Amino acid sequence: MTSARRCSRTACGRPAVNTLTYVYADQTAVLGPLATYAEPHAYDLCEAHSERLSAPRGWEVMRLAPDPSTLEPSSDDLLALADAVREAARPAAPVAQTDGLQTETGRETTRRGHLRVLSSD
Ligand SMILES: [Zn+2]
Repeated sequence: MTSARRCSRTACGRPAVNTLTYVYADQTAVLGPLATYAEPHAYDLCEAHSERLSAPRGWEVMRLAPDPSTLEPSSDDLLALADAVREAARPAAPVAQTDGLQTETGRETTRRGHLRVLSSD
């Protein structure tokens, strides 16, 4: 990987910053981060030509943010948190799955893993 990628437009020798990929099945031109390897129907574009990009008539142009995974925190943590909240908010499990902790006042205590759900009066 020593050769610099160049814009594929005719008479343009500027460094390529984006890769334009034509998705013929969807009639969509996808402009995204520089592809790591050459694909068919993919063209490297410099910044100027990326901005002036025009798709064929009837086509849509989809512009992808430059690698969102590096700009935003991973959603895994949020998903895990959401799962934990849902787990805690779940209605009491069927009696067969509880540890049988039931007081004489009718309050049930259900253990779910390390979580304990107490019914409120
Ligand atoms: Zn160019």
